[in-house]
Amino acid sequence: MANHGVMTKRVYHFEEGSAAMKRLLGGKGANLAEMTSLGLPIPPGFTITTEACNAYYAGGGKMPDGLFEEVREALKRIEEKKNQRFGDGQNPLLVSVRSGSVLSMPGMMDTILNLGLNDETVLGLAAQSGNERFAFDSYRRFLQMFGNVVLNIPSAQFEKLLDRMKEQLGVRYDQEVPADSLKTLVEQFKSLIRSETGEDFPQDVYRQLYLAIEAVFRSWNNPRAKVYRKAYSIPDDLGTAVNVQSMVFGNLGEDSGTGVLFTRNPSTGEKVLYGEYLTNAQGEDVVAGVRTPKAISELARELPGVYARLQELAGRLEKHYRDMQDIEFTVEKENLYLLQTRNGKRTAQASVKIAVDLMEEGIITREEAVARIEPGHLDQLLHRSIDDSQNLQVIAEGLPASPGAATGRIVFDADTAEQWAKDGEKVILVSPETTPEDIHGVIAAEGVLTSRGGMTSHAAVVARGMGKPCVCGCEALQIDVSARKMSVGQLTLIEGDAVSIDGSTGRVILGTVTLKDPVITPELSKLLEVADSIRHLKVYTNADTPEDAAKARAFGAEGIGLCRTEHMFMSADRLPVVQAMIMADDDEGRRAALDQILPMQQGDFEGIFAAMDGLTVTIRLLDPPLHEFLPDLEELAEKLGTLGPDADAGEKAGIEAMIRKVRSLHEANPMLGLRGCRLGILFPEIYEMQVRAIFQAALNCMRKGIVVKPDIMVPLVGHPKELAPMKEMIDRLAADILGGELDKCPYHVGTMIEVPRAALVAGQIAEIADFFSFGTNDLTQMTFGYSRDDAEGKFLNHYLERNILEANPFQVLDEDGVGQLIRLAVERGKEQKPGLKTGICGEHGGEKQSIFFCHRTGLDYVSCSPFRVPFARIAAAQAALADTSRQTTA
Ligand code: ADP
Ligand code: MG
Ligand code: MG
Repeated sequence: MANHGVMTKRVYHFEEGSAAMKRLLGGKGANLAEMTSLGLPIPPGFTITTEACNAYYAGGGKMPDGLFEEVREALKRIEEKKNQRFGDGQNPLLVSVRSGSVLSMPGMMDTILNLGLNDETVLGLAAQSGNERFAFDSYRRFLQMFGNVVLNIPSAQFEKLLDRMKEQLGVRYDQEVPADSLKTLVEQFKSLIRSETGEDFPQDVYRQLYLAIEAVFRSWNNPRAKVYRKAYSIPDDLGTAVNVQSMVFGNLGEDSGTGVLFTRNPSTGEKVLYGEYLTNAQGEDVVAGVRTPKAISELARELPGVYARLQELAGRLEKHYRDMQDIEFTVEKENLYLLQTRNGKRTAQASVKIAVDLMEEGIITREEAVARIEPGHLDQLLHRSIDDSQNLQVIAEGLPASPGAATGRIVFDADTAEQWAKDGEKVILVSPETTPEDIHGVIAAEGVLTSRGGMTSHAAVVARGMGKPCVCGCEALQIDVSARKMSVGQLTLIEGDAVSIDGSTGRVILGTVTLKDPVITPELSKLLEVADSIRHLKVYTNADTPEDAAKARAFGAEGIGLCRTEHMFMSADRLPVVQAMIMADDDEGRRAALDQILPMQQGDFEGIFAAMDGLTVTIRLLDPPLHEFLPDLEELAEKLGTLGPDADAGEKAGIEAMIRKVRSLHEANPMLGLRGCRLGILFPEIYEMQVRAIFQAALNCMRKGIVVKPDIMVPLVGHPKELAPMKEMIDRLAADILGGELDKCPYHVGTMIEVPRAALVAGQIAEIADFFSFGTNDLTQMTFGYSRDDAEGKFLNHYLERNILEANPFQVLDEDGVGQLIRLAVERGKEQKPGLKTGICGEHGGEKQSIFFCHRTGLDYVSCSPFRVPFARIAAAQAALADTSRQTTA
């Protein structure tokens, strides 16, 4: 339709749009359109496109030419449908002006209700409804919203006047304020507007509309919306649509009301209607915590007809959208209207349960169920909880608004939360209630605790979305923000005191508590099984102890991709022996110490082999530089200094020798120094001891009937000639130790690919190696030439802020650079040895984008920490689903 001279259409009636038009109409507008065409009860209205919003900004913050004329035109059709007229003194049409972005940003931008009221139309509304109180209640609400959103007068100033009025009347709730007082309040609000802006509140309804539309455009860039977009990586240039919709009224009395509803429990996923409502209320009253809302189940008693209808519509919407819905509704004199629907935000637990339930109800396919899970959600599901075996001092109980447990020091406002968190404190944000302006504090906090507000309050919704534990509406708490303290009963806590919250039960506990690791629910387990049947990548784990190995196996790990042996050197009882080994002046001395270490290592390996019975265990030989096992030079010097004159001469000599050794081992850049296979070449007896321990452990385990599959991994190889002698040594010891049992222990010798040169000469290395494991931490360090600690401590943030780098390459694999080396190494390695096994170990193995990369590059496995194993199983399946080239037909 974009013909010569004809402007692009910028205003769509609800019946002209559809759910597919989110980009143009915003989520709210697109869904209002979709629901309208489904024949659901939606008050008529129209949507101004996101393109118009972008045009507004492109023009430097000016209403685009001709747009308002289109709006006026569209309004006429609403007038006809409703048989009312905008600005009419007898039969006025009132509208809401609502923002609506492409991606849902709940509460981040502004809405104005009851627009079209002025001193004249309010009388018409009163006469026509026969309810003067209702008319002036609507007017005072409008003045406040307009004053706030359009004229930037803080809402608190209006609230203060309302509170004063209620105090004078001696009433507690808004709906108890009678008509006459509301009239007075309207006058007070108008003078507030006059004194704050120097101008009268605009009586011209078209001017009201014009200004409101502009204000919604502007609200796209209000501070809280910006923070939200940043937190959720929502692009700044999407723009918001504006929905202009005829009003329906929940504030007409007790047979009217407003509410929010989830079609399933967003916390647990249980299939029951879940929500809250208030009678004789309007708009955001429910979520704003004005009065404590009633549970939706109550509506079944209060207005059974409405409840039944709501149930029916909820079911229809779920089937249509094939997902759990979050609905806003208003009841006007027992007539139900829907004002919004969207896919409901949910906790991880709910997200898994709902996906599995919808799959079993036949509403979605198995693939969809897996594709729907946000891997980030799984992080949350694998939430920690409070270990109930400890003595807990529960000081209060609130609503269990977002599951998981958190422990930390209390702070009373968002800025402090952010500040303290930056300083490395774990904080719990405590506040009477939170508003969208507090979003940065919620992000920074471990958890949120409020004294007011229900399960759908702002704090609850936001915390659930972020997977933060939250306890809401904990009314026993007296929070005094300005005095920076809170009390409950006789107990007073000040800012900085420790509390713990349990978002799954609502408990508030004094002090810090021990948190317990999560378990896999039956639903998750079902979903993981589906994922397993879809994915191509194997999922291994990084585990250094039998306990970790067992845990990972319970989470579905199919092997160990990285068992680091240095931790086995570190324990208090072993370190002195390890130090003696390092301090030894000759081979003999070194061997003597190693002989002591061997049985300990062997024991470790036996434990790990037993835990991983039947599965591959990839063991990396010692990697770090030796000085890591020696005490710090400064500490030694200090110790020497504190020795008195009558100190033992031997002790003194010992410390001095240690100092000499530490000095001699000192390296300018240990990361690039004597470590990994370089150490193995210079001091072969260390690796020999480790290999002996591995095969002796294997032999012992095999005798017990355990199936052992060791893969021995040599770190830091950059040249095939570094690997060759190691391989010889390993094969020799294997034959020696295993003897006749050799073929019952299918071991492999491989290498880490973590030095760029190794990737380049991967073909030569593959002549010797049976497998490659990409050590992407070192490979990233060496490819970028960054030392990770220095980069993260000094300049990486700056790089990220200035968009020099898009993501921290130590968290998200750098596909362009490091990824190229990996691709090259896989290609050249497999050219040389088609059966070469390849995998990735290190943090990237548990990160979604990196897992997708590993799938596309054709690696055999990813290896990640035990808790990330379920996450990696899902992400690997999603990678397979996203990859159309390798998709298996179902
Ligand atoms: P948000 O996206 O923050 O929820 P909305 O635009 O949905 O903002 O509106 C805020 C509140 O006002 C919601 O409770 C909504 O149901 C209500 N509301 C919006 N438009 C109307 C209308 N035309 N009639 C009655 N209530 C409305
Ligand atoms: Mg809302
Ligand atoms: Mg809404």
